Amino acid sequence: MYTDSHCHMTCDELYDPLDEVLAHMSEVSSCMIMCTTEEEFLRALHIKKSDPRFKVAFGWFPGDARDIDEEKMQLIENYLKQGLIDVLGEIGLDYYWDKSFNDVQQTLFIRQIELANTYHVPISIHMREATKDCLDILRAHARTKIIFHCFSGSPETMQECLKLNSLISFAGPITFKNARHGPDCVKACPLDRMLSETDSPYLTPVPYRGKRNEPGYVRYVEEKIAQIKDLELEQVCRQIENNFLSLFSN
Ligand SMILES: [Zn+2]
Repeated sequence: MYTDSHCHMTCDELYDPLDEVLAHMSEVSSCMIMCTTEEEFLRALHIKKSDPRFKVAFGWFPGDARDIDEEKMQLIENYLKQGLIDVLGEIGLDYYWDKSFNDVQQTLFIRQIELANTYHVPISIHMREATKDCLDILRAHARTKIIFHCFSGSPETMQECLKLNSLISFAGPITFKNARHGPDCVKACPLDRMLSETDSPYLTPVPYRGKRNEPGYVRYVEEKIAQIKDLELEQVCRQIENNFLSLFSN
């Protein structure tokens, strides 16, 4: 049974054919739905209510930092207070698209980490072209469990991330022919510190690369991990699911 620790199942691209997406994930036993809007979050809560395989994450994405006002911060805090958010995320820093508001992203990132500390929930980190600032902020502020989602850094960066007692999550790019650091990181990451994810509808793994991604395809990520680490698939899947569930036990 497979674990998709990060998918955007309630975004429009996957929510419209939801029955189809669910039908394809009969072998997925644990799944976390990432929400970047309140609409996606309410859809995800609805799915979770009738299906215990699901966890729900909600947080303001760094790219949206300029649009996050006090009212939106309050919204997140209210849901945290009610215990409806399992993981705060994805939060972090993304300097790839636009470097003009790095400071706004940093302020939002720190505020969300502090909310996670207050309500004792893990955080899911989106880090792109911002490794140093991101790790500096996490070292200074983070007090709850950390997931580095869709890890794509170097093995050296991964070691720095592991020092923060985090879990490293691998996605479809490790299956690509031109995968840069991915396979080296998979090899170097202890099995009890890793997660698998799809980040669907993006980053579709081989053999479906180029098509729309969905949670059921996480099997190709876990198969690749087993292959790279030269381990039994069953052992890999069992440990990854344990790692995922350990985020929610104290
Ligand atoms: Zn994502």
